[in-house]
Amino acid sequence: MTIDSVKAFLKEYDGEDMRIMEVCGSHTAAIASCGIRDMLSDRIHLISGPGCPVCVTPSSYIDKLIELSLKPGYCVVTFGDIMRVPGSRESLLDARSRGAEVVMVYSPLDCIDIAEKSPEKIFVFAAVGFETTAPVYAQLIDRVIKAGIENIHILTAIKTMPAVIGRIMENGAPIDGFLAPGHVSVITGYDAFSDIARVYAIPFVVAGFTGERLLVALFDLVKNRGRGLVKNDYPSVVTREGNLKAKELTDKYFKPCGAVWRGLGKIKGSGLILREEYSHLDEGSVFLDEDIKLNKACICDRVLTGSKNPAECPLFGRGCTPSSPQGACMVSREGSCFTHFVNDIRGK
Ligand code: SF4
Repeated sequence: MTIDSVKAFLKEYDGEDMRIMEVCGSHTAAIASCGIRDMLSDRIHLISGPGCPVCVTPSSYIDKLIELSLKPGYCVVTFGDIMRVPGSRESLLDARSRGAEVVMVYSPLDCIDIAEKSPEKIFVFAAVGFETTAPVYAQLIDRVIKAGIENIHILTAIKTMPAVIGRIMENGAPIDGFLAPGHVSVITGYDAFSDIARVYAIPFVVAGFTGERLLVALFDLVKNRGRGLVKNDYPSVVTREGNLKAKELTDKYFKPCGAVWRGLGKIKGSGLILREEYSHLDEGSVFLDEDIKLNKACICDRVLTGSKNPAECPLFGRGCTPSSPQGACMVSREGSCFTHFVNDIRGK
C-alpha cells in the first residue's frame, strides 16, 4: 500500500461514520499542523481526548499551588504552561503578579540547583504529566533522597492513560477507534491498551507524529473497525512491554492512586502518588478533590471527552483566546481549543 493509496482511501471513504479519538496532546498538535482533517472524508471524525497534561489538571491543584506559592518560606517550581492554567479564582501567573513565589523551569532536575542556592526555602515542584514524565519525577526524588536534600517537595497531579480511556468507554462515548499515544506507549508499551481493546472490541493503533505516520495509523483504524486489537505503527521506539528501566524507577517511588481529572472527576487508579515511605516529600496531593470552574460557561469537560467540539463553546474566540484563556484547553499548544483556534485563524 503506497501513501497515495492511503490518502485516496481516507479521502474517498464512504462507509459507516468512524469516530476516532486521539489521546495524546502532541497528536492533537500534529494533526492540526499537518492539516490532516482536510485530508479525510466527511465520514471520518477526529476527536481530541484528554491527552494534554495541562488541560486535565484540575482547578483544585492550581489553587493548592497558588496557596503554597503565597506561603512564607515556600516557592513553587513549575513548567511554563502550568503558570497560565486558570484555577477557581486565578492562575499562578496572576498570583505571581501579586507577590507569589513561582519559578519556571524546563526540567524538574533544574529544581536541585535552585534549591541548593536557597536552603532556607522549601521548593515545591508541580509534578504534572503522564507516564512519559513520571520517570523524570522519579529521578528527581531519587536524587533528592540520595543527596539528602531536605528542601525539595512535590505536589503530584501525574496521570496514567489506560484508566481514563477505560472511563471514556465505560461512559458510553461513541468512539470507534483510538489513536494510541505515541510518547506514553514508549514507556508503558503498547500492551497497556490490550485489555480495553478486547473488552470493547475496539482498535487501538500506536502512531508516530509525522503526517505520513498519522495517515497510515488512521487508515489502519478504519480498516480494523470493530476489532479488539492493538496495532503498533511506531515500532522504531515502541515495544510491547515498553521501557522497563523507566517503569522500574517510577514504581520504586510512586504507586497508583485515584486522580481528579478536569471535567471528568475522580477516576480510580488513574494517577500516581508517592509511596508511604516517601510521603514526607509530598505537599498534600492526596487532599486534592473538587474541580471548580473559573468560568461557568467553559465546556472543557465535554470537549475533553469528545462530546462537544471547541467551536460549540459560547466563549470560543469570544472571551476565550490563547492570550486570555478561560479554560485549560485553551492554554497549551496541545490543547484542543488552542489548536482549533489557531487553525481557524490560519484558515481565514
Ligand atoms: Fe473552555 Fe475556552 Fe475551550 Fe470554551 S473555548 S471550552 S472556555 S477552554
